[in-house]
Amino acid sequence: MTDRAAAISTGPFDLAVIGAGAAGLWSAIRAAEMGGRVCLISRKPLAESASFWAQGGLAAALDSEDSPAAHAADTIAAGRNLCRTEAVRILTESAPDTVADLIDRGLRFDRGPAGDLELALEGGHSHRRIIHAGGSQTGREITGALARIVAGQPGITVLEETSAVALWSDGSRCHGILTDRGPIASAATLLATGGAAALWRRTSNPWGAIGAGGVLASAAGADLADLEFCQFHPTCLSAPGSDADGALITEAIRGEGATLVDSEGNRFTDELAPRDDVTAAILQQIERQAGEPVSLDLTAIDTDRFPSVFRMLETAGFDPLNEPVPVSPGAHYVMGGIKVDLHGRSSLPGLYAAGECACTGVHGANRLASNSLTECFVFGQRAATAGMEETATRNPPSPPTWRFDPPTPATREAVWRLAGPMRQQSRLEQLTKDPYPLAQAIGAVALARRESRGGHRRSDFPGTDPAMDGIHLTYRSDGSIEQERWP
Ligand SMILES: Cc1cc2nc3c(=O)[nH]c(=O)nc-3n(C[C@H](O)[C@H](O)[C@H](O)COP(=O)(O)OP(=O)(O)OC[C@H]3O[C@@H](n4cnc5c(N)ncnc54)[C@H](O)[C@@H]3O)c2cc1C
Repeated sequence: MTDRAAAISTGPFDLAVIGAGAAGLWSAIRAAEMGGRVCLISRKPLAESASFWAQGGLAAALDSEDSPAAHAADTIAAGRNLCRTEAVRILTESAPDTVADLIDRGLRFDRGPAGDLELALEGGHSHRRIIHAGGSQTGREITGALARIVAGQPGITVLEETSAVALWSDGSRCHGILTDRGPIASAATLLATGGAAALWRRTSNPWGAIGAGGVLASAAGADLADLEFCQFHPTCLSAPGSDADGALITEAIRGEGATLVDSEGNRFTDELAPRDDVTAAILQQIERQAGEPVSLDLTAIDTDRFPSVFRMLETAGFDPLNEPVPVSPGAHYVMGGIKVDLHGRSSLPGLYAAGECACTGVHGANRLASNSLTECFVFGQRAATAGMEETATRNPPSPPTWRFDPPTPATREAVWRLAGPMRQQSRLEQLTKDPYPLAQAIGAVALARRESRGGHRRSDFPGTDPAMDGIHLTYRSDGSIEQERWP
């Protein structure tokens, strides 16, 4: 890796990428291949990204009986009348070529005995279309392979264990990034800092998913959007008090036949409905059985197909080969984030975003399983391409004095308690007073959306309001909220 201090003094770069998950690694690679001088900044080593932990895989219409149009229709149905249809078209039409591109660069996905890619089924998909690696170790394979490509790419300067603490902006343009090691000037700055699901105490995400990108962008004047939509994954391990509480049990395992059962051992829902429906069914069932978690029966599943899941459950003290394991919903994915156009441009000139920290509108109110890794690649590449057209300002303004402050455990507890899977006005009002800016923003927009839709459910507004179809709530940096329809 390049020496940090030396690299910092050699700016300006063409593109500064913050975050080394799938979106950041891929954007950096693509920009460098276009001839750009790229600086890739990551707070942690790779193992800290959500991308590393991805289990299921990437969605792409690859089967001869499948099509991008069918993939788009499933994405739009899961998104509950809120997906930006042009973003969905781009995602689903680009996905097969993206997979081919990754394979050409040496990424290995699981294949069947005849050598064809194995295609898995997940909830909400009408066809088998999820490619995976190492069974349920897809993220590990992807991030490892991309990191090796980055290491061999002379156009990329890598700064690991370096945190972005503010954007270098005067509110009218972004000129680079301020890190805990010093400022980095760049013509374009691309945030790929991942999601915010770890803001909820009960989560499947690694600690770093605290929405730092959104906080940095908003403090610099950029718009955020769709923050009220958090996907609560139906099958997170329920092991209160243990480190394994909230650990993800991939949906692909339900695609292979794992069933959800109540306290009597009876099935109570369609395990392969879109996630928001399965989560709602589980919450109702938990209420019916006085708070006791439901269970996931894995006893008929081939352990070789999901080795990491079985290992995790056995380490946590469960016997999944012989007994159903307790599960309940946990925060897994945020559909909202930094509002961007279809080329990753935020509302602040010079600032781009890609991956989970961005909101292209592609997921609507509820992400279709395994669309997010595909999004990291498809929209990461588009953001890198657009960012490469920027030119650096000769005399950037003085850096701002504002600095990022991470959320406390009290904030994480409050977000889970006040904006969890079932919400109501009085609790959301309390959340708007939280010291962490993103928690405040989530409280405010969830309060403003007076209906239930996808990953946003309110006990005081249980129905979906058709007048809100296609309406996104944009959160401005001054705290105001606007309703928008996106082209
Ligand atoms: C357990 C689990 C399983 C999943 N399985 C799947 C799946 O099978 N298929 C699928 O499509 N999606 C899956 N997802 C979701 C998917 O993994 C994520 O949406 C996606 O990986 C996000 O990638 P990203 O590049 O946007 O961010 P991340 O992979 O989260 O990377 C963010 C990067 O930003 C860095 N960073 C953050 N803040 C700062 C800062 N201030 N300064 C410097 N660096 C910073 C982090 O260190 C990290 O390197 C899963 C998620 C989890 C948690």
